[in-house]
Amino acid sequence: MRLKCIKLAGFKSFVDPTTVHFPSNLCAVVGPNGCGKSNIIDAVRWVMGESSAKNLRGESMTDVIFNGSNGRKPVGQASIELVFDNTDKTLKGEYAAYNEISIKRKVTRDSQNIYYLNGTKCRRRDITDIFLGTGLGPRSYAIIEQGMISKLIEARPEELRVFIEEAAGISKYKERRRDTENR
Ligand code: ATP
Ligand code: MG
Repeated sequence: MRLKCIKLAGFKSFVDPTTVHFPSNLCAVVGPNGCGKSNIIDAVRWVMGESSAKNLRGESMTDVIFNGSNGRKPVGQASIELVFDNTDKTLKGEYAAYNEISIKRKVTRDSQNIYYLNGTKCRRRDITDIFLGTGLGPRSYAIIEQGMISKLIEARPEELRVFIEEAAGISKYKERRRDTENR
């Protein structure tokens, strides 16, 4: 499964609707300091359901909305859409029929979050569920940020176990068990 493109609007420095294409398996995003490279990674994490503002380098969850710049007024909402190529059928079951999977998240200044799966409104849970066990997701090992390598090396055994369980595909079942126990 490959990320084909990301569509940003009103998110951090990407105030105007922008589509970033990832045309092959190996892509690099380059540019001067402050041009928005890390904001693209924040966007990927955010749309997959990240619920910690700190992990998005902000103080509150609405900090992801474009808050104005020289000559540009702040906007009222941010949205991100990720389009995945599923022709290799990484996502099975009900999703196997789709060659493309689109997930989208929108947030307004009054902190209303709306999620969409292939254009249909869904819950945050539906999005996180899809990616559990695939290595993707807001806290998975698919995104290796600055400082993460040393964090892994210095991790306590129980912290390391979380990564191993995700790689082995166990985390999906643990999450479901937790969910059932909490009902
Ligand atoms: P570096 O090479 O230094 O890591 P970068 O390309 O990763 O830089 P980012 O951290 O992605 O840069 O982008 C930082 C820019 O995004 C800053 O100019 C900052 O003002 C802008 N920015 C962040 N949040 C918002 C927001 N909510 N509204 C407007 N601009 C924002
Ligand atoms: Mg950066």
